[in-house]
Amino acid sequence: MKTIAVLGGGYAGLRMVKRLTHEKVDAHIVLINDNEYHYESTQLHEVAVGNKEPSDISFDIRAVLPDSVDFIVDTVTSIDRDKQQVVLKHSQPVAYDYLVNALGFESESFGIKGVDEYSLSFNNIDSALAVRDHIEHTLANYATSHDENDLHIIVCGAGFTGIELLGELVERIPVWNKQYDLPQNGITVDCIEAGKTILPMLPENLSSWAVKFLADHGITMHSGTPITEVRQHSVVSNDKEFPGNIIIWTTGVQGSHVICDSGYAQKRNRVVVENNLSVKDHPHEFLIGDVAAVPNPDSGRFYPTTAQIAVAQADCAAENIVALLAGKPTHDFQFSSVGTVCSLGPGSGVAEIDQMGHWKFKGHKVGLLKRLVNDRSVLELAHVKEMLASR
Ligand SMILES: Cc1cc2nc3c(=O)[nH]c(=O)nc-3n(C[C@H](O)[C@H](O)[C@H](O)COP(=O)(O)OP(=O)(O)OC[C@H]3O[C@@H](n4cnc5c(N)ncnc54)[C@H](O)[C@@H]3O)c2cc1C
Repeated sequence: MKTIAVLGGGYAGLRMVKRLTHEKVDAHIVLINDNEYHYESTQLHEVAVGNKEPSDISFDIRAVLPDSVDFIVDTVTSIDRDKQQVVLKHSQPVAYDYLVNALGFESESFGIKGVDEYSLSFNNIDSALAVRDHIEHTLANYATSHDENDLHIIVCGAGFTGIELLGELVERIPVWNKQYDLPQNGITVDCIEAGKTILPMLPENLSSWAVKFLADHGITMHSGTPITEVRQHSVVSNDKEFPGNIIIWTTGVQGSHVICDSGYAQKRNRVVVENNLSVKDHPHEFLIGDVAAVPNPDSGRFYPTTAQIAVAQADCAAENIVALLAGKPTHDFQFSSVGTVCSLGPGSGVAEIDQMGHWKFKGHKVGLLKRLVNDRSVLELAHVKEMLASR
């Protein structure tokens, strides 16, 4: 019997396992993930500020896996592609016939000086909790330090993650003010962004509404301000310096470092895959989710890395593995977006939805929409748990 090794229990990896088991493939499926649990990466920013607890955004993977799937909790250190083995930190290597690499994303510093030393980023539950600890510890420290910088939060980057984080901060700051008995308007938040336009992927009226919402809630946005260095107590953009003792880095992500550690031809730990999502000259290897650079034949560019697209890629790659096992031809990845939802805290946001027409929403309706879909762009992914059980 052939072995299919699926690496990563995120959106792409779990969806892959679900599709393969649903198809009742005649193969041994092994899922390898570094935790017993799945966490919804799309909600990490809520944990980072304390508006949600880890248990709100995670669940036990074993509880949703069929008995036929072998689940190994271990860290993948590399892939020996010649021997067709996955190398693990603690256990024996796992041999495979088909490989699905869905190891997801890590934060990207773009080589900017001081980022790793003096700012915090989040790409899993532990790092989100570390951000929260740092914020709370620094705010609490103000009582003895009386250092205004303890109350200055700097968010580096105004992509989706940065903007959604700012929205959660708007919600949380009044709670911290009370909790640490801070002066009214004592906590300040600056967001520093290299791009001139905020949320350029949304129509102008929605992105400017989001920027105004944040400004009305006391967030100062500095667009067109490229960060050149992060220091222990400040962020520098050329000759400007923004002081603050809480520096959160959200400027972008790269794929898992396992990609470069395994000798793939890669850029920012992403591999350009074939149209059927396999790796060139390795038809039994598939890369999906944030480790894959997938060409969009319509635009000539790569698809963005989102959970919505990761799930669609898992469906396509699963169908292709089923086809290969049956000696049939594979098909190319095609994707049509259901739209984009950017939350601004639990009760507001902006959204553009392409389902049964073209819809634009802003304000509290998006809070409701977000609660319904629990994600900015993944209508079909409303809850991974139900997603695994359904279809
Ligand atoms: C704050 C935030 C909000 C976002 N909001 C949205 C949104 O609303 N909508 C949207 O579509 N996208 C959103 N995204 C993007 C989305 O989260 C990613 O595109 C998506 O998580 C990619 O899915 P994935 O399965 O490839 O990887 P991941 O979700 O990162 O899953 C990777 C899995 O692999 C495991 N893993 C990692 N390394 C190893 C290792 N070495 N060994 C073993 N296991 C390992 C991890 O624990 C994890 O379980 C958001 C991202 C962030 C950071």
